[in-house]
Amino acid sequence: MTNSAKTLCPYCGVGCGLEVLPPAQPGKPTNRDSQGTPIWQVRGDRSHPSSQGKVCVKGATVSESLDKNRLKYPMMRDSLDESFRRVSWDEALEAIVHRIQTVLQTQGPDGLSMYGSGQFQTEDYYIAQKLFKGFLGTNNFDANSRLCMSSAVAGYTQSFGSDGPPCCYEDLELTDCAFLIGTNTAECHPIVFNRLRQHHKQNRKVKMVVVDPRRTKTAEVADLHLAIKPGTDIDLFNGIAHLLMRWGTIDTYFIDECTQNFPAYAEVISHYPPELVARNCEIRLDDLETAAKYWAKSERVLSLWSMGMNQSSEGTAKVRTLINLHLMTRNIGKPGAGPFSLTGQPNAMGGREAGGLANILPGYRVITNPQHCAEMEQFWGRPPGSIRPQRGLTGVEMMRALETGDIGFLWIAATNPAVSMPDVKRTQEALRRSPFTVYQDAYYPTETSEYAHILLPAAQWSEKTGVMTNSERVVTLCPEFRDPPGEARPDWAVLAEVGRRLGFVEAFRFNSSAEVFAEFVQCTEGRPCDYSGLSHDRLRQQGPLQWPYPYQWPSPEGEEEKEQNRTNKRLYTDLRFNTPDGRARFAAYHSKGLAEPPDTDYPFILTTGRLYGHWHTQTRTGHIPKIRKMHPTPFIEIHPRDAARFKIEENSLVEVRSRRGVARFPAMITEAIAPGTVFVPMHWGALWADDAEANALTHPIACPSSLQPELKACAVQLEKV
Ligand code: SF4
Repeated sequence: MTNSAKTLCPYCGVGCGLEVLPPAQPGKPTNRDSQGTPIWQVRGDRSHPSSQGKVCVKGATVSESLDKNRLKYPMMRDSLDESFRRVSWDEALEAIVHRIQTVLQTQGPDGLSMYGSGQFQTEDYYIAQKLFKGFLGTNNFDANSRLCMSSAVAGYTQSFGSDGPPCCYEDLELTDCAFLIGTNTAECHPIVFNRLRQHHKQNRKVKMVVVDPRRTKTAEVADLHLAIKPGTDIDLFNGIAHLLMRWGTIDTYFIDECTQNFPAYAEVISHYPPELVARNCEIRLDDLETAAKYWAKSERVLSLWSMGMNQSSEGTAKVRTLINLHLMTRNIGKPGAGPFSLTGQPNAMGGREAGGLANILPGYRVITNPQHCAEMEQFWGRPPGSIRPQRGLTGVEMMRALETGDIGFLWIAATNPAVSMPDVKRTQEALRRSPFTVYQDAYYPTETSEYAHILLPAAQWSEKTGVMTNSERVVTLCPEFRDPPGEARPDWAVLAEVGRRLGFVEAFRFNSSAEVFAEFVQCTEGRPCDYSGLSHDRLRQQGPLQWPYPYQWPSPEGEEEKEQNRTNKRLYTDLRFNTPDGRARFAAYHSKGLAEPPDTDYPFILTTGRLYGHWHTQTRTGHIPKIRKMHPTPFIEIHPRDAARFKIEENSLVEVRSRRGVARFPAMITEAIAPGTVFVPMHWGALWADDAEANALTHPIACPSSLQPELKACAVQLEKV
């Protein structure tokens, strides 16, 4: 393959540029992992605009995981009691096509479903939408991004008229005040955090406020840490808004000219006086006032959030009430300011752009909008009415449909729901009852492969060419630079082959991912996420580019257009939004709190999260010795006062019970967690530890708007084993 390549880190949504070099280079010793196996060398790509050469431990060690535990050949079995047998691609694909046709005849299109992933490249996502929503007639495509950032999507869409983070990373160095809410950025988005922290350290007037029930590494360096009671974010935001109103530090001109619904919002926040809010949030009154003062006195306020906001039964309301603060103070559309959601996965953003959730279509179209459905029908050459303006099943709903028999075909790709879904024991039982599950993944075994009838080996990042978009809307081409193992194939190619075998020969006649991308960008023309000036060739030659990017190429004014794009790094700089009247919308929400608050039977709040080194369910990072050494075992954080009550000592085993399940973790006694709350990391599934599945405890109650489950909080009881 190639000598070296520039690509994007395949882990988190920060999207750092990587430069990879082959194991053997002239005049240098061969690069090897700790077991002596030659591996590709990885370093930060200094030319990448988002990361300028910086990487964290995950990016730096990614090449160590690429050859471990790989699924190399298609495998099949007739029932879960049998062992897998190796089969040809032809046999596996024919079995899939036959099953799809049978389900179409017996159950109709909605008997089919696919559960994809933010690990997909944009081409994979696009082909899946075209096949399922365009040609098979079902909107039952959802992705694990539902668990990650669908509340941000819903919040942006409802407040601004369309999805899309309006900020860019440069804002980290231009802000006067950063509010980080429900995000342990130092561990989960380290390169973003380092950039902000550097700015914060160098400028004493710059303030950093962290809102998190845990004293995380992020909170440790903040000027103000608000350890609010879990589930009281809306109280806090409405309380800050109340003070801003009281002090008159709002932008009435902007509110009058550029927004709607302020009176209803003003009425709601009148019910959030600071004394009440401090009590509800269980924080000091003067800390609340300090936070509001920081916001009021700063010219440019940037808010950053991730799962702590999104994974909530009122996730959309949280996002929108935070956006309200930006609107009332006109902290949007200017450098150093804005509401900035940090995406969890490397291409969750590309998935949004390609329509990769059950409620959206490519080009930031919304599935319940008949006009948007008609546009995609026309684009795909489908008869009018073939895309129903009705959302499909979410991932959790697919599991319920397996229980009721409403789904006869489930295709899972590049994700591990047997660890990552809420109420995971019920999920595992539902998967066990599935009549036909295809599992397409790079790795084997995983916890989910146990429930598959057909295994399809996927070529992963580094073995296929495709595009990924990071949190600041920068699109990077990730080239194939090594051969896939065995018979592994790219996800988009497998989906296209199934499309052709189903008889849609012309629609799925793609010879390369560049052709898939070329088709996709056409349907984004004129949309908020306009990609129409992008192509694989252009990205290869010009490097990463940020959308919107409608500038055609090649053109005589190429350089000028590039410059135009460079200075247009933020959305809404003209203060016109994507709503029909161009005005942003205030949202008037009261706080509802947790879906499952603690009570006398289950007196503790369990919160879950991620660690610096590990990625999701460890299919990659679990095989990297350095990372395993960093985080060898799961644990539960308990406040010393609670530990004393239950006679729990450091490292003693604690049994944790919720209404759904039980798990056991060694205790880590620490004042970093508030009394009454406990924390466990979410990375350990059944393959890595006995009985330490965090999601055996969590519940699936979701935000009614974004349908994102409240993975961040549930009620539990503790017992020393
Ligand atoms: Fe990769 Fe995220 Fe680390 Fe950057 S911060 S190197 S994208 S895991």
